Amino acid sequence: MQLDQVCFRTMHLDQPWSMESYRSVGGYQMLEKILREKTRQETIIEIIKNSALRGRGGAGFPTGLKWSFMPRRMPGDKYIVCNSDEGEPGTCKDRDIIRFNPHQVIEGMIIAGYTIGAQRGYNYIRGEFFEPIERFEQALIEAREAGYLGKNILNSGFNFELFCHPGAGAYICGEETALLESLEGKKGQPRYKPPFPAGYGLYGRPTTVNNTETLASVPVILQHGADWFHELGTPNNGGQKIFCMSGHVNKPGNYEVPLGMPFAELLELAGGVRNGNKLKAVIPGGSSTPVVPADVMMQTAMSYDGIGKAGSMLGAGSVIVMDETTCMVKALERIAYFYYEESCGQCTPCREGTGWLYRVIKRIEDGQGRQEDLDRLIDVANNINGNTICALGDAAAAPVISFIKHFRDEFQYHIDHKCCLVSEPELKLNY
Ligand code: NAD
Ligand code: SF4
Repeated sequence: MQLDQVCFRTMHLDQPWSMESYRSVGGYQMLEKILREKTRQETIIEIIKNSALRGRGGAGFPTGLKWSFMPRRMPGDKYIVCNSDEGEPGTCKDRDIIRFNPHQVIEGMIIAGYTIGAQRGYNYIRGEFFEPIERFEQALIEAREAGYLGKNILNSGFNFELFCHPGAGAYICGEETALLESLEGKKGQPRYKPPFPAGYGLYGRPTTVNNTETLASVPVILQHGADWFHELGTPNNGGQKIFCMSGHVNKPGNYEVPLGMPFAELLELAGGVRNGNKLKAVIPGGSSTPVVPADVMMQTAMSYDGIGKAGSMLGAGSVIVMDETTCMVKALERIAYFYYEESCGQCTPCREGTGWLYRVIKRIEDGQGRQEDLDRLIDVANNINGNTICALGDAAAAPVISFIKHFRDEFQYHIDHKCCLVSEPELKLNY
């Protein structure tokens, strides 16, 4: 098994982010071939569909299908937007793709633009990612100098401009329609969907929004073929995926591995659980995905279907590992605070409900919980779920429901005994 062969394929080189390094692994060859041969857009979409590439930002929507929604022949402006605003707690992959292999994102965006009929692209990069933004801007200069951007690219008649747009510093700007609002210079608040961006996107024009890892996968899929990519993973779960391993592991970091790898193997790659401690639970896809107890997780394959069977979601592949010293009440309190803080306030169930969730969990953690609090939490979470404009509401509710489902005894102990069942204070997670 060979790792790091899709998004991190320049990592073994000196200065992996340079044009020279990228070219040495076949970079920009696919763009040149497509423009030289004037490859039909339908052909590219078919290859991406057959590769089973699914959106790597969290939702896992099939990429080829998303591209096929674009009204390519409709005259007027169309846009390709790369969502590099990663802010999901536990996620740290897109910043490293841009940091270490920015040209692959650029090539993926130009090919996507050509395929969906867009002549303009924006990479919306989280504002705090100073080094990735610098690397991306430098790579844009190199790509322009090499003739891959601008008018009549490589004498093909295809025009494409690409811009880097630093984000506005809010988690919600990573939601695709809030991102579009923010790009337009407005307050970053989600829009109702439908209409989806393919019909009504940036400035009201057809737009495709794809995640960084998704777009960076495109040139490699076209270079090696749909079957090659698909077979790296498992059926319906094509390719490799970067898993961001964080929490109580010995070697936290990004691991690009085939989809379908058993969790136990991935944990081993990340050096195992710290201090030889026992694994307690894992949040497999970022803080908005349900928590999974250790015994189930150790039997789970790291794929969309595998994690789905375990009762959670692959999300953005952000694996938060918690060992036996973790207080689940404290961990949930921290997550609930995040969503409370980041709610944009547009819809009542999310604006008010995230505050309720946080305050009730906090009082349990503070030893002031009431007997009715656990049912109250479930009730509030269920009333948020599915009743909001965007997925942040669901994201706030899912951890609450799953933490209480799997670790109810621990929450109950906090309420009954006004202290923690698990850890001495000094062993608690240090937030
Ligand atoms: P979604 O399922 O609504 O949409 C997924 C994508 O498919 C979108 O681009 C959407 O436009 C498109 N789509 C879906 N149905 C469509 C249709 N009928 N026609 C046209 N296009 C269609 O999910 P979402 O709200 O975009 O994303 C939610 C996910 O984002 C969560 O699961 C979470 O894991 C993830 N997330 C990731 C981060 C991060 O930092 N990477 C942060 C927060 C949340
Ligand atoms: Fe804003 Fe929350 Fe409503 Fe999303 S669910 S639009 S974050 S208030």
